Amino acid sequence: MSIDPLVPAIAQPTRIRVLASALDTVPDPMIVFDMEGATLFANKSAIALYGHAMNGVEGERVDNLLATRHPHGLSTIKRLLLAAGAWSGELYRRSAAGVELKVGVDWTLHYGDDGMPCFVVERSCDLARNEEIAEQVRIASHRYENIFQAMAASFWELDFSGVRRMFGELMQSGVTDFAHHLHHDDAFIETALRNTIVLDVNEKTVEMFGAESREAMIGGNVEAVWPRQSRGLFADALLYAIRREPRLSAETILTRLDGTPFNALFTVCWPPGHEGKGSVLVGVIDISDRKRSEAELVASETRYRELFQAMSMGLLHLDTRRLWQIFNRLKQEGVVDLRAHLEINPHLIQEAMEATVIAEVNTAAVALYGAASASDLVGRTVKGLWSPKGMRTFIRAVECGYNFLPGFEEETEQLRLDGTPVAVHLSFNPSPTLRAQGRLLVGLIDISERVAAESALAELKKSFAHHTRLALLGEMTASISHEINQPLSAIMTYGAAGRRMLERPAFDKDKLVVIQDNIIADARRAADVIARTRSMATGKQADKAIVTVASLVEASLRFVEHELKANSVRLETAFADANAATPIDPVQLQQVIVNLVVNAIQEMQKVPHARRVLTMRTQAVGDHVAIEVEDRGFGIPAEHQARLFDTFFTTKTTGLGMGLAICKQIVEAHGGKLTTENTGSGALFRVTLPGAI
Ligand code: ADP
Repeated sequence: MSIDPLVPAIAQPTRIRVLASALDTVPDPMIVFDMEGATLFANKSAIALYGHAMNGVEGERVDNLLATRHPHGLSTIKRLLLAAGAWSGELYRRSAAGVELKVGVDWTLHYGDDGMPCFVVERSCDLARNEEIAEQVRIASHRYENIFQAMAASFWELDFSGVRRMFGELMQSGVTDFAHHLHHDDAFIETALRNTIVLDVNEKTVEMFGAESREAMIGGNVEAVWPRQSRGLFADALLYAIRREPRLSAETILTRLDGTPFNALFTVCWPPGHEGKGSVLVGVIDISDRKRSEAELVASETRYRELFQAMSMGLLHLDTRRLWQIFNRLKQEGVVDLRAHLEINPHLIQEAMEATVIAEVNTAAVALYGAASASDLVGRTVKGLWSPKGMRTFIRAVECGYNFLPGFEEETEQLRLDGTPVAVHLSFNPSPTLRAQGRLLVGLIDISERVAAESALAELKKSFAHHTRLALLGEMTASISHEINQPLSAIMTYGAAGRRMLERPAFDKDKLVVIQDNIIADARRAADVIARTRSMATGKQADKAIVTVASLVEASLRFVEHELKANSVRLETAFADANAATPIDPVQLQQVIVNLVVNAIQEMQKVPHARRVLTMRTQAVGDHVAIEVEDRGFGIPAEHQARLFDTFFTTKTTGLGMGLAICKQIVEAHGGKLTTENTGSGALFRVTLPGAI
């Protein structure tokens, strides 16, 4: 008797079909086979697992089809099945795709009405797959554990059930607009923070928030780490939770347990499994470093901008990307010597200017170009800013870029927007970084004022020279008496002598002629001195002539003949190189020699007549000539030596202190030198002048 009420009513194949359609609803793979092992039915899961369309193959033996194996042999386990009516164990099979499968099977033996074994119902499962899943679960949880513990992020598992309860109460109290409520009810947020309990944290959390240990944090709430200014985000997180949004991520400020705030990337998620547990997962990444470097970047960018704008030098940021396209084209054409190429193709210079666009300018550049604002310059090309005079610099700059040469600086000319030229000092130092971006920074200093100042200075120098000459004229005027005195007194002396002679009844006519000649020579000399003085004051060039030094000395001595005689000074001359000549203004140099001789005579007035010897020497010294005036006076005291040539330095009661200063100036103006030394028996003055070539 069967206990199944359906069985008596339907035949065996029909029973199997009924059973089969029922088995299709079972998720596990199920196979029904007869006592010969022939497949009677396989459900959808079994077909999916083994990959064989087992239902269509009439009588196919399931063991053959699936290459079923058991370590003890199939006949052994079938005996066990027959004996016990059921068997459970593991079998090895192969799927249609040739994959080895390890399956766990439960066999149940079904008996016919005759009580004989009739068919077997097999329920199986893919053990390998199960193991694989178990392994994946193990790996995933291990990974999660690892991530949870070892990541640079802080992880929190938080118990949210208390907050949920609060929401329940809120709903019951009739609140529907949670967003508005949460953002306005500070007390609610504070309580929610206190009701958010820490279930677990990783070690990174302990480190990041400065806690003593994980244990010290677990069980506590999150109030301490949420500063007041970040409560809005906490409210948002709660709203996300209510709306069942899977996750929320935002940058915010959190506080460490010692109260110091830090920038954090906060992520909260509600993993499916956690919902039931009423817990949430929170990840926190400390981004204060990133924030700091971002802030530093912004600061350095700001500093650069400020510097760029504040520089007194005009700065242009040029976009040279189009220029580089031209360069690349020329390089492809094989142009090596760009300068030569530009000379033959001047239109390329215009093209290069049109391809150089102003990307940025500072205030100094705006002023330099006479623009109203930066927008007058930004976006336009540099064409029209280069004057024909500055073109040389532009070509040099272009060549620099083309050949990757280092930068340079030079004075050049630019044109203001109104077309007027402006002198500039241009500099650029192409940095490889900017060059790679097709950018170029050019510095310009407006030197028009300096150039104007320079020409003003040149003018000033001229007028200064004039004033110097005028000052000198003052000195000259002062010295004129000194210079003129000597010829005038000579004229007077000669005049008086002539007159005395004429008073005599008989006079020597020849002597009178000599006296007259001397008067004329001294008068001419006086006139010459005045003329020279005037020409020096008006800045006229001296009339130079090449004269031999011997003749120069002889001519000079003629003017002092009378003084020499009157003071009983004996003259000795030694003209070593008779032909040694020098290109000079003879009158000026005569003045020098007469001055030196008069000084020598005056000095020797202090010594007995016998000692009064004046030695005049001339000689060639290398490519120079030298004139020496040596006396037998007392020489120059050491304490006077440094001041000897100073204007108005004199030791004489009637002296002016002009003579040596004028001598020095005249000699130096001729490219020579006036020096002095004590010989031991007097003073020696040496005039050195460039020799005539
Ligand atoms: P001044 O003759 O009007 O004093 P100088 O410039 O010619 O002006 O000379 C400056 C001073 O140099 C003289 O006062 C004198 O002290 C000194 N000096 C010039 N020549 C001689 C000399 N040959 N020996 C000694 N002292 C001299």
